[in-house]
Amino acid sequence: MDISELYRIFTEHPQVTTDSRDCPKGSIFFALKGESFNGNAFAAKALEQGCSYAVIDEKEFAVEGDNRYILTEDCLTTLQQLANYHRRKLGTKIIGITGTNGKTTTKELVATVLAEKYNVLYTLGNFNNHIGVPKTLLRLTAENDIAVIEMGANHPGEIKTLVNIVEPDYGIITNVGKAHLKGFGSFDGVIRTKGELYDYLREHNGKVFIHNDNEHLLKISSGLNLIKYGTTDSDELSVCGEFLSCDPFLNFRWRHGKAQWNEVRTHMIGSYNIYNMLAAACIGLYFDVTEEQICHALANYVPTNNRSELEVTANNELIIDAYNANPTSMEAALKNFREIKADHKMAIIGAMKELGEVSDEEHQKVADMLKALDIEQVWLVGDEFKSTDCPFRKFNNVEEVKQAIDENKPEGFCILIKGSNSTKLYELKTKL
Ligand code: ATP
Ligand code: MG
Repeated sequence: MDISELYRIFTEHPQVTTDSRDCPKGSIFFALKGESFNGNAFAAKALEQGCSYAVIDEKEFAVEGDNRYILTEDCLTTLQQLANYHRRKLGTKIIGITGTNGKTTTKELVATVLAEKYNVLYTLGNFNNHIGVPKTLLRLTAENDIAVIEMGANHPGEIKTLVNIVEPDYGIITNVGKAHLKGFGSFDGVIRTKGELYDYLREHNGKVFIHNDNEHLLKISSGLNLIKYGTTDSDELSVCGEFLSCDPFLNFRWRHGKAQWNEVRTHMIGSYNIYNMLAAACIGLYFDVTEEQICHALANYVPTNNRSELEVTANNELIIDAYNANPTSMEAALKNFREIKADHKMAIIGAMKELGEVSDEEHQKVADMLKALDIEQVWLVGDEFKSTDCPFRKFNNVEEVKQAIDENKPEGFCILIKGSNSTKLYELKTKL
């Protein structure tokens, strides 16, 4: 079946699912394959559960005479093509976001700011890969004025694939740093991959919002239409920001060109969030959201996703940053923790994943940074920290940490909880 025909069906059944346990009535099921499953085997169940159609790519799973089965060459490619077709048909303005750290936070902040004036569609949660991105695009409707789409990558070429599906009109790379080095091969590999967004926008005359303090981004930005934000004052900036304090929430001020300063008291932990905030202000201004509306949106954004959260429990104050960890975000989190004033500090630090051959070296660097900070208690969690040279207490996993909490009952601490999602440190929230 060609895409225009499938699109006709989609316009009558504008909901898609890839999970046979979640089959809204009238939706279209796409039989995707994973390492341990073949979606084709669930097509019949999906139809039984309420889907109107099942897109499959292995014909033996179709039932003869049942025209609810749509046979294609490859379901994932079909899903992506359908998403791109839909995106083109609607012609909605799209802002594509990628970068090593801060994509989700920036996406949330940009969406919050734009929502002051527009009907905005944006990526839910962290659905930023080759499946999440097309599914997000397929949620676009004619009511949306603008869309903010997060794009993630672990390997070279992945942003290019996503960009060709999304066809963004505007783009932003939040930053480039050390993450997924195993997949990318090197830091240069990271830059090249993120730069695939710039390459697309250069070719298609799109616009780029750029973090002007970031030399790596500036280096790959020639030939682009740039709109700049940063914290180093310059006439070129559309938005300039200045860090004020972390109390422990970030307070900062920003201004458009040389206009008056706007002060914002945020609900986010982490001085690094100033860049995510400035990106959102810069994009908001570009789309004619007023300065007042921008300040209102940024000040009222409260994270609820284990990123940059503060939680005060009966016994302690927790800084929860347990969603993601890589050398760059770890350094940012530790620097921020150093600035926070507290009588008693404790850090529970989980391992960083997917670092390949530099893993030992990068974990030693974290241990060294921790040595240089004046923290009463440091607990390190995960195999990756085992061979580090440091005086800190080491744990194999989060279960051992829970046991230690039961035995030691830490009280009166400001505690940084930071680690990769897979170390599950967020489970400690309820124990501390
Ligand atoms: P993922 O790759 O998991 O999708 P992401 O790029 O969407 O991550 P966020 O989820 O927004 O990033 O933030 C993850 C963590 O990265 C934060 O909790 C924080 O520690 C760090 N971080 C966020 N913004 C920045 C920034 N601008 N610079 C450095 N580190 C940052
Ligand atoms: Mg994300």
